[in-house]
Amino acid sequence: MTLHQISSFAKGQWVAPGDGARPIRSAITGAEIARAGNDRLDFAGMLAFARETGGPALRAMTFHDRARMLKALALYLNEHKQAMYDLAYDTGATKADSFIDIDGGIGTVFVFASKGRREMPDDRVHVDGAIEQLSRNGTFLGMHVCTPLQGAAIHINAFNFPVWGMLEKLAPTLLAGVPAIVKPATASCQVAQACVRLIDQSGILPRGAVQMIAGGTGDLLDHVGSQDVISFTGSAQTALRLRSRENILREAVRFVAEQDSLNASILGPDVEPGTAEFDLFVKEAHREMTVKAGQKCTAIRRIVAPENRVGAVIEALSARLEETVIGDPRDTTTRMGALVSVSQKNDVLDKVRLFRREAELVSGNPDAFQVRGADARAGAFLPPMLFHCAEPDRAERIHDTEAFGPVSTVMGYRDLDHALAIANRGQGSLVASVITASGEVARAAVLGAGAFHGRLYFNNAASMRESTGHGSPLPHMTHGGPGRAGGGEEMGGVRGVMHYMQRTAVQGSPDILSAVGNTWVPGAAGLSPPAHPFTRRFGALRIGETIVTDAREVTLDDIEHFARFTGDTFYAHMDEAAAAANPFFPGRVAHGYLLLSFAAGLFVEPNPGPVLANTGLDGLRFLKPVVPGDSIRVRLTVRRKTPRTDEYGEVRWHVALTNQDDEAVAEYELLTMVAI
Ligand code: NAP
Repeated sequence: MTLHQISSFAKGQWVAPGDGARPIRSAITGAEIARAGNDRLDFAGMLAFARETGGPALRAMTFHDRARMLKALALYLNEHKQAMYDLAYDTGATKADSFIDIDGGIGTVFVFASKGRREMPDDRVHVDGAIEQLSRNGTFLGMHVCTPLQGAAIHINAFNFPVWGMLEKLAPTLLAGVPAIVKPATASCQVAQACVRLIDQSGILPRGAVQMIAGGTGDLLDHVGSQDVISFTGSAQTALRLRSRENILREAVRFVAEQDSLNASILGPDVEPGTAEFDLFVKEAHREMTVKAGQKCTAIRRIVAPENRVGAVIEALSARLEETVIGDPRDTTTRMGALVSVSQKNDVLDKVRLFRREAELVSGNPDAFQVRGADARAGAFLPPMLFHCAEPDRAERIHDTEAFGPVSTVMGYRDLDHALAIANRGQGSLVASVITASGEVARAAVLGAGAFHGRLYFNNAASMRESTGHGSPLPHMTHGGPGRAGGGEEMGGVRGVMHYMQRTAVQGSPDILSAVGNTWVPGAAGLSPPAHPFTRRFGALRIGETIVTDAREVTLDDIEHFARFTGDTFYAHMDEAAAAANPFFPGRVAHGYLLLSFAAGLFVEPNPGPVLANTGLDGLRFLKPVVPGDSIRVRLTVRRKTPRTDEYGEVRWHVALTNQDDEAVAEYELLTMVAI
């Protein structure tokens, strides 16, 4: 059998293992299958290459350029993913486990690519939030902008999801415009390396955007500084060792940590055995114990049920666990493969011995279990093991020790407060789930336990067919948790991109802020367009182009006509005395929607032209009532442009309606699609 040489990808070159290389063994046979690591890598040079070559190339691109790059990369990986699947079996993963890892990772890149195009600008500066009015007359304003850090992101990843764990960090990092040095866990780095080789072969990323270290990190961390970010996933112990390094503390290096977690799942007090929800609870617990042989940071470690239903839960769950086929992951009938290594298996067995002091093993015997198609003693196999802890309030280890394998403990609760207190004993987790159909239980869980958990997952008969699973972190939602879970937050859509950017408060005049954010800010000078802006194509329109329309008087006849025509005969428009008795109105007033319609009538250019559609209004405010006899005019300004397809882009217009005294009566943003 050939021994795979797992190379590092440093400064644009593949570097074979050398001094200090470590063996990687098959999780199935225990045989050495690969070697990885090279102490002579130029770690400082890798950082410099990222900062000086990868960073500038990425920062020269816009968010949309980088989002398109991510989409192309996801398509490429999807087309060539079999290379990763083939290698993953020897990490103990079944095809279903690798689907979560490989297809899940590629799917995450697709989501970031799409969010980057939809939610970020086609620009190099991201404006975060609204303009802040800092002065009475609006000549001095504030806003927040985000720009990419000018260092490197160092991703230190856990062994359990070599592809997803890498891609879920790479996608937001690259979208932000920051180069990455990835250090996968050695035990499964052959799979991560296959992914990085594909990334390299694709030629899609600029040079220096991604590098990879197979094996140890040498003196890399001695060279990190304030513009670098460390994004760590692994055990709490390693995180503590790394984040407390002197240079990391001194330079206030960002350190995002995703650590281990004693996640809980609570059977709601409203759920009876024999119902769809009870079955759902058992099914989720079984899945979380057996997928990836329980080596999931989000796996359910503590199963919390009403005291009088503990017996029913143990019975139903044990029946399922005992039917789980354990064996060679290449065999399609195998439900649970092996742990990643014999040392990982031994670590789990050590924890199991600790648990035995405070809980009873009620299902699964590590000394006697069937393994199909493989040698149980040579490989890293274990059966799923279910404990019952009769006194969860007195127990310690089941609440603070993570057995990173197919191990979980059932415990009973007296009432909901007790259940939440048990869940919170984990001292901070990535996810807690509650199976309940009761909105009251869900709200009480959020108030009582939200502060201790990064994600709360509620499921019941209404959502179970479409729900994504207790253990699935989604790119749209934040992933991370307080306390022992590391205190980090990854993903969460564009929120995850922000970890790799600096948010800067910018203060200045409206003109300065418009120029900085490439978005027109109210109060900034307007540009006069050479023709009506609705006759100008997307590419020709300039930010700040403004037209001011003629005035139009609003009469009582208009108001009555509009009321009859639409059926909106609300008293404020129809009844003088009733309207005058209302604290907001001097008497009868025009409908707000009438004003919007008149505004459109004032500013549109009626002939066919580049404006294709009106797709919405944002931030509509009616600021002052319009009474019969008032006249209104409109100021229409190009606020922001965002390309959408090759054929059209979104133009966001600022629309301001004023009365005859130049007082603001209404304001909003109008969204249109305009031909390129
Ligand atoms: P680990 O032993 O802490 O290792 C994590 C990573 O840190 C590996 O890449 C490891 O590299 C590296 N590392 C260890 N010592 C280092 C050092 N001195 N300098 C630089 N890098 C160092 O954790 P693991 O056993 O791989 O992963 C299992 C743990 O990860 C579990 O506790 C699990 O809960 C947690 N986890 C958490 C999440 C999450 O999102 N919260 C996700 C997955 C896993 P080597 O492999 O080369 O030693």
